[in-house]
Amino acid sequence: MPRSSKASKDSVHYSIRPADLALHLFEVTLTIASPDPDGQLVSLPAWIPGSYMIREFARNIVQIRAECDGRKIKLMKLDKHSWRAARCEGVLSIHYQVYAWDLSVRAAHLDQTHGFFNGTSTFLQVHGQEMLPHVVEILPPSDSKDSDAYANWRIATSLRELKARRHRFGSYVADNYDELIDHPVEMGEFQLIRFDAHGVPHEMAITGRVPNLDTARLAADLKKICEQQIALFEPATKRAPMERYVFLTMVVGDGYGGLEHRASTALICSRNDLPVKGQPAMSEGYRGFLGLCSHEYFHTWNVKRIKPAVFAPYDLRHENYTPLLWLFEGFTSYYDDLVLVRAGLIDEKTYLGLLAKTLNGVLRGSGRLKQSVAESSFDAWTKYYRQDENAPNAVVSYYTKGSLVALLLDLAIRAGTRGKRSLDDVMRTLWRRYGRDFYVPGKGGKGVTEAEVEALFDEVSGLSLKPLLDRAVRGTRDLPLAEAFDKLAVAMTPLSKPAKPSLEVRTRKEGGDCKLASVHEGGAAHDPGLSAGDVLVAIDGLRVTASNLDALLARYRVGDTVSVHGFRRDELMQFSVALKADSAPQYAIEARDKPVAGARLRKAWLKVRG
Ligand SMILES: [Zn+2]
Repeated sequence: MPRSSKASKDSVHYSIRPADLALHLFEVTLTIASPDPDGQLVSLPAWIPGSYMIREFARNIVQIRAECDGRKIKLMKLDKHSWRAARCEGVLSIHYQVYAWDLSVRAAHLDQTHGFFNGTSTFLQVHGQEMLPHVVEILPPSDSKDSDAYANWRIATSLRELKARRHRFGSYVADNYDELIDHPVEMGEFQLIRFDAHGVPHEMAITGRVPNLDTARLAADLKKICEQQIALFEPATKRAPMERYVFLTMVVGDGYGGLEHRASTALICSRNDLPVKGQPAMSEGYRGFLGLCSHEYFHTWNVKRIKPAVFAPYDLRHENYTPLLWLFEGFTSYYDDLVLVRAGLIDEKTYLGLLAKTLNGVLRGSGRLKQSVAESSFDAWTKYYRQDENAPNAVVSYYTKGSLVALLLDLAIRAGTRGKRSLDDVMRTLWRRYGRDFYVPGKGGKGVTEAEVEALFDEVSGLSLKPLLDRAVRGTRDLPLAEAFDKLAVAMTPLSKPAKPSLEVRTRKEGGDCKLASVHEGGAAHDPGLSAGDVLVAIDGLRVTASNLDALLARYRVGDTVSVHGFRRDELMQFSVALKADSAPQYAIEARDKPVAGARLRKAWLKVRG
């Protein structure tokens, strides 16, 4: 255990303080007792693990200076995220301010209502000392104007306390830099929910105003999800991979997002998605929120411990390319809702309806016919994470199609082994081989390669799944899901085409105007040349507004031709649009009673009775 002394030679020391809440500034001091005598190199990560985009967090550093034994020394900026301090044979300290005004789970946010930060936004990496223990002293706001206002602020984090009482300001510790940046910190006056899952303490800190929150229900539902997942990976011992787990939840009027960490997750959600006392029904919003919690929690195993080889360790300066996000995000997306039905939080009909929604969403974009999930994974940095108006026609989601790949393989293994094996067995083998000891010094730290993952399916199932896997992962043809469903007594039936015409566009309100956000390839708007960015003005001489497009179209039938006026830039254009039914194939997914053997497999898959 390192001493908390700022000059300790066997640890790296930081202090962080909310310095100016109105200017959204955290003040950080980094103290290095034994800096590199030739000039210490420090840098801030270019990205945050779990969110595959270069974000250049160092652009939020407002002022930075270095001192050697208290005397100012030169700090040379080397590139957009690195600095080198001048030679220092004493104690090097680096002082800087971080602008924190990104209300997302990916960076940092600070104002009078709360503070939140990820280490990737706030803690400079000390090159050459990454493996030393890292101590962080978290200090309360120093706003002298009204210090009492923050007397009730508490801390929520999965960082270990060094000299701090639980939930209090004080010093915390991580074994190394990689661990330090994997425990985000929330501070403020939050509601705290606690429960145990298979003996491990869990909590959820909820920041933001939520009147009459049904905390008992939330705790009970989360417990079911967490216990289901712990038992999935460790059916014999029910041993969780962490000693404690924290959900950090920021509640806003309208928002949705999550980011996984090794013993916590940062979430952002809409107020209306959280349960109100005395309202027992499962709303769609609350089901979505539980699905988000389930998703991020599943990552505790899948991507935070079972990792692609290129993430072990992460290169925080550059893109880390992997073709495997279909496994780490897609399979996690498959299990997030599956765990809800297995835990009894949603019924079979609802679950199959959610699968249909995912399937129909994938089928909506022609990008699925051009990009495989392996390619989409590799290009996440420039395509999936940076989607433009052409995305539906160019990009396939490794989340949603990846979850269908998981579904297809699960169904195939269950049918092919008559229920003796399943995707759960594949996940458990991955876990035992690559995940369980990942953070055990000397034993773990090895990620999994594409070839190793793909060999596992045949090894675990005893089947020859290679051709199916190849088609699913590297192919762009639609997946043979109907046949796979059939063996588990599930019917996937095409929905009849609606009589109502569709332009097959995504629109965006711009003031009172209706602007085309995307135009789907092959749809009615694409044929005569309407384009993303066009502002629709009139259909057959009647004004189009941001809210009346559907109502106007509903007056016509498939086969009718209408005159559409729209502005491209500031030039008025006219298009003759032959109205069509929606061209995307769409399906319903429903359980059947027969064949009986298939229905038995289906019930084992979803763990439903009857
Ligand atoms: Zn995820």
